[in-house]
Amino acid sequence: MRPIQMVDTKSQYLKIKEQIDSAILDVLDSAAYINGKAVTQFSNNLNAYVGSKHTITCANGTDALQIAMMALDLQIGDEVITPSFTYIATTEAVALLKLKPVFAEVDKDTFCMDPESVKKLITPKTKAIVAVHLYGHAAPMEAIMKIAKEHNLFVIEDNAQAIGCEYIFSDGSKKKTGSIGHIGCTSFYPSKNLGAYGDGGAIFTNDDALAIKLKMVANHGQITRYYHDLVGCNSRLDTIQAAILDIKLKHLDAYNAARQNAAAFYNRAFANHPKIKTPVVANYSTHVYHQYTLQLTDVNRDKLQECLTEHKIPSMIYYPVPVHRQKMFDNLGLDKVEMPITDELTSKVISLPIHTELDEEQLNFITSQVLNFINN
Ligand SMILES: *Cc1c(COP(=O)(O)O)cnc(C)c1O
Repeated sequence: MRPIQMVDTKSQYLKIKEQIDSAILDVLDSAAYINGKAVTQFSNNLNAYVGSKHTITCANGTDALQIAMMALDLQIGDEVITPSFTYIATTEAVALLKLKPVFAEVDKDTFCMDPESVKKLITPKTKAIVAVHLYGHAAPMEAIMKIAKEHNLFVIEDNAQAIGCEYIFSDGSKKKTGSIGHIGCTSFYPSKNLGAYGDGGAIFTNDDALAIKLKMVANHGQITRYYHDLVGCNSRLDTIQAAILDIKLKHLDAYNAARQNAAAFYNRAFANHPKIKTPVVANYSTHVYHQYTLQLTDVNRDKLQECLTEHKIPSMIYYPVPVHRQKMFDNLGLDKVEMPITDELTSKVISLPIHTELDEEQLNFITSQVLNFINN
């Protein structure tokens, strides 16, 4: 059996090696390392794929979130509602800009922000909501956009884990996640569903004025070179990564389908088990399985992980500490905030290997070992 990895970027690369190698060599040959042709080309193709009006590429997903918030002209102390059950980057950008993070609960089935919880947190200082499409499943955007409209709030989508995911509106129409809110952000970190061979990120918007602002913020506040109208930052997708991503974008739907196949295998193996809850897919979303995350009841999770490690099966806890309990927020007194669902999920979740290169032999081995441990 091939060794099992949490993510197998190497095997995936080997299948498209010739195309990738030649695209990298083309960039080297062009010597246009910054903002070369591939950056524009990838940005246009990604824009069409996501179905957004504008796409601005940048250096990574964390920058994308920061740039999004900088472009919204928020004032120190303005409140931004985010889930606590997420990767730290979502909230770190809020705190970095001296905005106040306010934490919403998530839904216990989908792990995504609960609109009812959001409603209760709105105050006159609330200016924005960051919806995270966690693990590859969409947050309930229709409800979130409705709340935002009623209270005149901006919505930023953190689409770092869900590129290619589709949101299905109640009238049956569909949109890709990242193209629904005022701004969408994504990451091309190598393990993401559309992963570069280094860092990368992108920002989406359908708003023409915001697009100009985002572009300026990402580029030292300038539109005309050496004329800086606002304080921005320097955040660029490099040309080599853009060339790689442009090739991988063509495979993204197939990559997501491979993840869905692996997830379906897991779902069959764990179906109806009293101690295992498999991922739930809401009727408004597809699932692109950035992670395949189980919820365990009455299972010693540490012991299960030890047992899997002994059998050379990696597993991960995303995330062991919810954001509101992280030390970086000690000074905000947020640990006193009660988030029972978030805390419970934190204690129950385990993510199994999921990527485009898993074969049946590996999946069989993983599921048998998990079931062996839990049933004995
Ligand atoms: C990966 C990730 C980010 C940050 O992306 P980087 O490219 O690593 O900066 C932000 N939010 C979520 C939910 C992520 O998973």
